[in-house]
Amino acid sequence: MHIDARAIDDQSIIEGDICIIGAGAAGISIALEWNNSPYKVILLEGGGFEYDDTVQELYRGELTGRPYFPIKSSRLHFFGGTTGHWGGVCSTFDEIDFKKRDWVDNSGWPIKLQDIAPFYPRAHPILDLGACEWDLKYWQKQNPALKPLPLDKNVMWSKVWQQSPPTRFGTKYKDTIVNAKNIYLYTYANVVDINAVENVSAIKQVTVKNSAGKQHTVKARFFILACCAIQNSRLLLASNKQAAAGLGNDNDLVGRYFMEHPHIKSGELRLLNPDPLKLYELVEGTKVRAQLAFSEKTQTELKVLNGTIALLPQEFAENSISNIKMWSNDDPRKSLDSFAKYNSLDKRSFFERHFMPSKLFKAYGLTTVMEQVPNPLSRVTLNNEKDALGVPRVNLNWQMLPLDKKTVTTLSKVLGQQVGAAGIGRVRLPDFMLDEKDDNIPSDFVSGGWHQMGTTRMSDDPKTGVVDANCKVHGINNLFVAGSSCYTTGGAANPTLTVVAISLRLSDHIKEQIKLPLT
Ligand SMILES: Cc1cc2nc3c(=O)[nH]c(=O)nc-3n(C[C@H](O)[C@H](O)[C@H](O)COP(=O)(O)OP(=O)(O)OC[C@H]3O[C@@H](n4cnc5c(N)ncnc54)[C@H](O)[C@@H]3O)c2cc1C
Repeated sequence: MHIDARAIDDQSIIEGDICIIGAGAAGISIALEWNNSPYKVILLEGGGFEYDDTVQELYRGELTGRPYFPIKSSRLHFFGGTTGHWGGVCSTFDEIDFKKRDWVDNSGWPIKLQDIAPFYPRAHPILDLGACEWDLKYWQKQNPALKPLPLDKNVMWSKVWQQSPPTRFGTKYKDTIVNAKNIYLYTYANVVDINAVENVSAIKQVTVKNSAGKQHTVKARFFILACCAIQNSRLLLASNKQAAAGLGNDNDLVGRYFMEHPHIKSGELRLLNPDPLKLYELVEGTKVRAQLAFSEKTQTELKVLNGTIALLPQEFAENSISNIKMWSNDDPRKSLDSFAKYNSLDKRSFFERHFMPSKLFKAYGLTTVMEQVPNPLSRVTLNNEKDALGVPRVNLNWQMLPLDKKTVTTLSKVLGQQVGAAGIGRVRLPDFMLDEKDDNIPSDFVSGGWHQMGTTRMSDDPKTGVVDANCKVHGINNLFVAGSSCYTTGGAANPTLTVVAISLRLSDHIKEQIKLPLT
């Protein structure tokens, strides 16, 4: 059922069993799980079914750290969320991503890969991915041309990626949500405040507002915050009527540990033999490919982070401009246009120019995509300006640390040693890697992947995390957070497949909880 929150009586009281705030990949994945159940689900979406700049403008914020995408255009603010723009590139987390690593400060989730793995097969059809098979051997049986470079598997391996069409949640799931009898989707229902009971042990209700000047109250037994990392932390920090520092923020952790997947131009690979590297190519229609990844053993021995290297045809790589430079307009439609225009300067398709040689290439530009050290100073805070609905805007201070530079440098060097030892080629390092005393990576070499993680990190201990292993906010019985803001560390894989998997896991947990009598 769909209700436009601008069209109902002002000061309406809306009641349900579960209230999901945000209808993007996380929120919609959870709502679909409850379709046809005996429970009334309220799905609150700040925008409508189409782009509306008055709503998008609510996202505007200030950058105070490393250069980054404008906050306003780095996420989409309408039904379907940022899946309206995402690229569909998917992979799974690795076992090591969840471990406490003594060389990575603030690493270690309270759960293991095995806790998330059962949810990947359920996430696959939601994202229109192929078989839930992530072992290269499976894909080689389907296509023997997918041959890995002959590197020592104990050192580097070929990590598989799959390509979603990409699924646009706002298009694919609109009818199911709108026609569901027990799901009440409210559009133009921006949550501006989360209200707790006096001792802050539970959430009583949330307040929604819109540009029509209407304000409503939503009451439920369970609340799930699914607005993505920056907005999740913004709402918790701004909801400070009962807890002065914001909800879930007794230990000053909300907004901290913001993480991206730095995408770094990391050198050049020259191969002696011009065999096309089919396994590593992305052409139109590619469903499966690989990137070169550090093994767990190498990460442990060399004390570096998890990261992978993608290969791009060198003639493209040497002239490429960072995503952050191309995506610099506050209006996400204009940023997308300049991104697309930049990528259509010649007649070859986007995929051909970026990823695949129409002829045989011997030289490849290296792009390292990696996790970064969780850093409490890399953070989202509120600023003094308020948006049109009265919610404080945010500052984003994105930072990187010396281990980040060590990791990207080590990855390129190890690849160089590996291709040298195999007698198949050489790697040329960029100049910034040659000065080991300088921890800085020049901004021109660094971009992001629009992957926003952290800010409500997961930990068993309220002193080191905002949510527990079930994504419940510590100390608040009925408030949960869905999506990548809960990530303790970022892993080397694009985040959305795991966003959906972890959201399904959360949904199952609440299904268990809802059977319990109210306390
Ligand atoms: C250009 C681009 C390319 C990308 N490519 C990839 C890729 O290839 N692979 C990958 O894994 N990831 C990719 N991503 C990231 C991916 O889009 C996100 O990981 C994913 O969308 C996160 O889902 P989410 O539901 O947490 O957040 P979102 O999809 O952003 O959804 C949040 C929802 O909450 C709503 N909302 C926000 N605030 C409020 C409020 N106060 N009240 C009510 N509703 C609210 C929003 O309108 C939105 O609908 C890309 C992102 C971009 C921008």
